[in-house]
Amino acid sequence: MLDMALNALKFFRNESCGKCVPCRMGSQKMVDIVTGWTRGKGSADDMPLIDELTDALKLTSICGLGQFAHAPLTSVLQHFREEVDAQTTIAPEPSIDPTAASDLKSSFTSTIEAGR
Ligand code: SF4
Repeated sequence: MLDMALNALKFFRNESCGKCVPCRMGSQKMVDIVTGWTRGKGSADDMPLIDELTDALKLTSICGLGQFAHAPLTSVLQHFREEVDAQTTIAPEPSIDPTAASDLKSSFTSTIEAGR
């Protein structure tokens, strides 16, 4: 679904005549963000930015193309949010168990000293 939304966002970005900034820049920014999501590079900061861009496009674009450019993504987020969240969530860094690290260091040191 995210790929379909991205395809539609690219269509609106490509069709933007560039006359007004929200449509020209906002549609490109949405494409950038969603392209990142499709490559597993989501960020917690993306959703507030998407909301801001959506409002800016809806409220300040001169014509219907810009006012509607957010719609494919808005629709996917509304109906397939879990799928999007699963695709865009960044896995947390694995934590290092200090005990295991200490045991590994001791084992490594013992091996080196035994080899002398
Ligand atoms: S909203 Fe309409 S007028 Fe403004 S840049 Fe987009 S296509 Fe052009």
